[in-house]
Amino acid sequence: MFTIGLTGGIGSGKSTVAQWFKKQGVPVLDADKIVHRLLLSDLPTIEKLIHEFGSEILSANGQIDRSKLGKRVFRDEDARRRLERIVHPSVLEGMQEERAALQDAKIRFCVWDVPLLYETGLEKFVDEVWVVWVPKDLQFSRVLARDNLSRAEVEARMAAQGSLDEKRKRADVVIDNSGSDEELERQLAEAWEELLIKQRCTDSY
Ligand code: ATP
Repeated sequence: MFTIGLTGGIGSGKSTVAQWFKKQGVPVLDADKIVHRLLLSDLPTIEKLIHEFGSEILSANGQIDRSKLGKRVFRDEDARRRLERIVHPSVLEGMQEERAALQDAKIRFCVWDVPLLYETGLEKFVDEVWVVWVPKDLQFSRVLARDNLSRAEVEARMAAQGSLDEKRKRADVVIDNSGSDEELERQLAEAWEELLIKQRCTDSY
């Protein structure tokens, strides 16, 4: 099975691209969803997180409060690393399990939607990386328009990720999302067509 690793930066357009793949009938495995599931119901993960960060990350009903956890780690790089060390091995495991199920069903392509693909070294587990890129100022203004965050919070979240320009340099395929939705779709169709030809995929996928 051929796996595309889809990544980018906060607000660069990854989810928009993931939607496009779904529309083409290509399954998208979402790392964020796996993280949410782990925080909600995976006891070993929950216990490790409480041990590491204390009960300040819990909501009134005793569940991990993602927003509190996010605020805790975005202002502290060391805390973020510790969180990543706890969560990432299970995310990889979850992605691999889901991919194995698709492979059993003889599906030929899948997409791994992983915001921190390079930062976590998950690029080693995919066949090709597609980076959705936009210039920094556009990234900033799209996040500001979409999310209920202050300018400082948007800056902190952007700074917490590896630079999008660096990711662009490492990418196998760069999708430039600084134009219109139509331009985005045109690039995706072209890159997808090229991949199908490279993989000699002329029938259904
Ligand atoms: P995150 O990782 O933070 O979830 P993302 O990379 O998935 O972000 P999207 O949610 O797809 O990014 O896009 C960010 C915002 O920019 C959204 O509000 C989306 O509607 C908008 N957007 C995406 N592509 C374009 C485009 N080509 N033109 C205008 N707006 C766009």
